[in-house]
Amino acid sequence: MKRETELARGQVPPLDRATIHEFVDATPGPFFYQRTAHPVGAEAERVIGELEGGHTLLFSSGMGATTALLLAMLAPGATVAVAAGGYYGTVGLMGQLARWGLEVEEFDQTGEPPVANLVWFEPCSNPMLTFPDLDVAIGQAQASGAIVVVDNTVLSPMLLRPLELGADFVLHSGSKILAGHHDALIGVVTCARAEDHARLHAFRTASGIVAAPDPAWLLLRGMKTLGLRVERQSASALELARRLADHPKVERVRYPGLGDPIAGRYVDQFGPLLSFDVAGAEAAARVERSLGLIENATSLGGVASTLEARARYEGSRVPPGLLRLSVGLEDVDDLWADLAQALDG
Ligand code: PLP
Repeated sequence: MKRETELARGQVPPLDRATIHEFVDATPGPFFYQRTAHPVGAEAERVIGELEGGHTLLFSSGMGATTALLLAMLAPGATVAVAAGGYYGTVGLMGQLARWGLEVEEFDQTGEPPVANLVWFEPCSNPMLTFPDLDVAIGQAQASGAIVVVDNTVLSPMLLRPLELGADFVLHSGSKILAGHHDALIGVVTCARAEDHARLHAFRTASGIVAAPDPAWLLLRGMKTLGLRVERQSASALELARRLADHPKVERVRYPGLGDPIAGRYVDQFGPLLSFDVAGAEAAARVERSLGLIENATSLGGVASTLEARARYEGSRVPPGLLRLSVGLEDVDDLWADLAQALDG
């Protein structure tokens, strides 16, 4: 059975918000207190665990998941190598943890990773859209003793399953394409090994960085259409990337679907995210202000397309005219008409 069909089957789980469940015969059950586990979360973890091929835990956000993973798996003095050109919040958090003894180095994930205790990849990095040669790079990292984490937020397990390539952990901002509707903040980690799951679960319970039932329920709801959404959003993103590449006001387009030879070996569609450069910060702001159909907003992976200039957050990490576009489910010609009028105007 195809994965998307399997996801769409089944009962709708009740939205059980109870923080406590009564003991049975003086014995606490698995859901005795919500910080440890709750029924909707457990169902979402089962569904994602089956898709990724591992043992899943939900957290209060993608960044909550990252915090828990780093603190549970590393110790003061640990070194982390993180993909350059990836999500700036991940590097920002690692920088904050310098006070707790973490040493962080950014590296070009298209080459060999440096020696570190933990190596963090982000295939289709956000917003620079680089793609590592995962088979080779995961092997190199693990040969030097590193824990390997792959942030799979942009592609989702519909397109890429890093645990099958040997990664130790897969992380998602479930707030993005998994939930898919810009109405749930949630994080996901899937562990290759049961013992790592137990360690991370113990840390989650102790720290309280856990997802509440409501976003977990919305995540499950979103997952039912994940396959369809990923397919349509990827097809539209590829078409828009091609048209943008031919537009005279566009200096550069980043989308692995435009012929990245490495990405093409791992995936056959390339997800909803692309970025492109216009002449500079002012030109980028003009495009943002001129949009109609496309929302001038942050985030990615939702059913509604969003576009924003990333320099407002990332400063000199990105070109001043870099615009990040997340392609939603709207008609591709309508999206192009909106982009073209904003660029031409
Ligand atoms: N990882 C990636 C690739 C992201 O794009 C984001 C958010 O934009 C995160 C992690 C953090 O997720 P959240 O916003 O759910 O905390």
